Amino acid sequence: MSNTTLAEKIKKIQTPFYFYDIELLKKTAQAAITEAEKYGYEIHYALKANSNHKILKVLSKMGFGADCVSANEIIRAAECGFSPKHIAYAGVGKTDKEINTALDLEIFTFNCESLPEIENIDKLAAKKGKIADIAIRINPNVDAHTHEYVTTGLEENKFGISEWQFNEVVEKIRLLNNINLICLHIHVGSQITDMEVFKTLCKRVNEIQKTFELFDIKLPHLNVGGGLGIDYQNPDANSIVDFKSYFEIFSKNLNLHKGQKLHFELGRSIVAQCGSLITQVVYVKNGRQKSFIITDGGMNDLIRPALYHAYHKIENLTSTKAEKKYDIVGPICESSDCFAKAELINETQRGDILAIRSAGAYGEVMASQYNLRELPKAYYSDEI
Ligand SMILES: *Cc1c(COP(=O)(O)O)cnc(C)c1O
Repeated sequence: MSNTTLAEKIKKIQTPFYFYDIELLKKTAQAAITEAEKYGYEIHYALKANSNHKILKVLSKMGFGADCVSANEIIRAAECGFSPKHIAYAGVGKTDKEINTALDLEIFTFNCESLPEIENIDKLAAKKGKIADIAIRINPNVDAHTHEYVTTGLEENKFGISEWQFNEVVEKIRLLNNINLICLHIHVGSQITDMEVFKTLCKRVNEIQKTFELFDIKLPHLNVGGGLGIDYQNPDANSIVDFKSYFEIFSKNLNLHKGQKLHFELGRSIVAQCGSLITQVVYVKNGRQKSFIITDGGMNDLIRPALYHAYHKIENLTSTKAEKKYDIVGPICESSDCFAKAELINETQRGDILAIRSAGAYGEVMASQYNLRELPKAYYSDEI
């Protein structure tokens, strides 16, 4: 959709709000599915990136499984059409209540992050007379070369079970009657754009699978998580990530056992580019050194720039004047409430409409009511 058509369409809607391009979502999802199917891989969409009902319904219809990190996400996934048999459930702090919900729904795997968790799932499954299928989440000690807050595969992170613990864990699992180990799970981080990281990951997984063979364990499933990064700088030129090269890396570098099924958990790369935060300019404030654009959207609507110093491209949908440099900031009483510094955009005036791009992942889901602001609403290209 061109900026002018978009601007025409959304003029009457109260800002700030999320706008989702459903056509782009479907195209992206289809590209991922098509490339994964070439090798018989299954993709579980990671709900934590965006758990909006409409988006989930689109993705469940297209054949994705789901990756959840809370019982509420599992319930939401099931409500939106994902089959529980294709739901993986990760998280370092699964509570009894959450585990019971997942046991009742009979999900694909509990991706277990520690020995006490495995013992607890066994105990709760026994109470229900059930056997829980589990994966053990391995901490592979691989550096994802991404922001420290979204690196998860290093020994110093809180996630997963490290190699020196394998012996103890395997011995313990053999003694437990109500869990069934069917999968190894590894997830090293998010917004990974250096494809070498995935090659390294494959090599580590090959080594880890060998170690498990020494214990006489060959599992029917392997789950290598998600983390594929997107191009925040060029959302139009690279609106769909190169899924072909991504899956090819795994097919070339990963040694699967005969009949072993490979699973992925992609979030950001499926939904990030289809979403924008649309916001209106409340004031333009010209300082001595810089000019500020003050928007009605704030860090409570989109926290990524404040939390991770993340870059989002920002466009003025209503101005065609020459470009100028601005700091673009929200209205919230915190200096971290800043969307961009020295961003070049068309000369802006009060009332203009801006699109903060690539906000479909970790945007709406992280919105809060900080400062007693209202939660942003969502609108969709095929409904307005
Ligand atoms: C967050 C997360 C994902 C998805 O990561 P993306 O970077 O959005 O692809 C997958 N698996 C697990 C366990 C996660 O925590």
